[in-house]
Amino acid sequence: MRKFLIAGNWKMNLGREESLKLARSLVHTLPPDTHAQVAVIPTLAHLDTVTDAISGSPIALGAQNVSSEKKGAFTGEVSAAMLKEFGVKFVLVGHSERRHILGESDSFLNKKVHAVINEGLAVILCVGELLEEREKNKTNDVVGRQLELGLAGVTAAAVEKGLLVVAYEPVWAIGTGRTATKDQAQEVHAFIRQRLAAQFGAASAAGVRIQYGGSAKKSNAQELLAQPDIDGLLVGGASLLADEFVGIVQAAAAAKPGC
Ligand code: PEP
Repeated sequence: MRKFLIAGNWKMNLGREESLKLARSLVHTLPPDTHAQVAVIPTLAHLDTVTDAISGSPIALGAQNVSSEKKGAFTGEVSAAMLKEFGVKFVLVGHSERRHILGESDSFLNKKVHAVINEGLAVILCVGELLEEREKNKTNDVVGRQLELGLAGVTAAAVEKGLLVVAYEPVWAIGTGRTATKDQAQEVHAFIRQRLAAQFGAASAAGVRIQYGGSAKKSNAQELLAQPDIDGLLVGGASLLADEFVGIVQAAAAAKPGC
């Protein structure tokens, strides 16, 4: 049985005080025994503040980015080993903002995937199509290629250790208020699981958590999470509001009561 993973990607929002306030509020408000594993993903600059604030709580820490390299002359970069020192458990790789605004390629992202896994951290590999790609019926081609190139060389052993999470984030749904329907999302999630099964074997693929991301909020979380291949949510805007984020976590309990 896959446990939901609900992760809040704070992006380049919230200063130190605001990050502290939100982290403390989640620690106090989230029920101790939720149906979901919960993670917050603050800016790198405030990992230290947030890791202190959530210490002793079940909330896990994530990072929004990582260097593809282990160490050395890479000004401005932060290695997976350094993230681990902050207590980071999950690292986002391939978020659409990094693919499309910062121009990160699939082969570059594949190096980051390996950097994260080699450090024993879990990677959340984000994949998803642009609106024009969906309109041309290219969704599976795009997502299939991002998986194939992004996960090249990843072993079934790493997957079995729980070091791989995939986030399906249709680019047209991110920050737009436009959410994929539950059927659109489920269709792509099932396709992703098929591709994972082809690469890692059906048993390993069955254990991989596949999150949906794109304008998720408490009002649509339950119907998305009720889909058989949706194992969590990667939440942007709504994760900045304690009440919304807690509502999303609570929706998990109602979505698949057995999880
Ligand atoms: C995201 O950036 O990963 C995301 C899903 O954002 P939003 O929830 O704001 O669409």
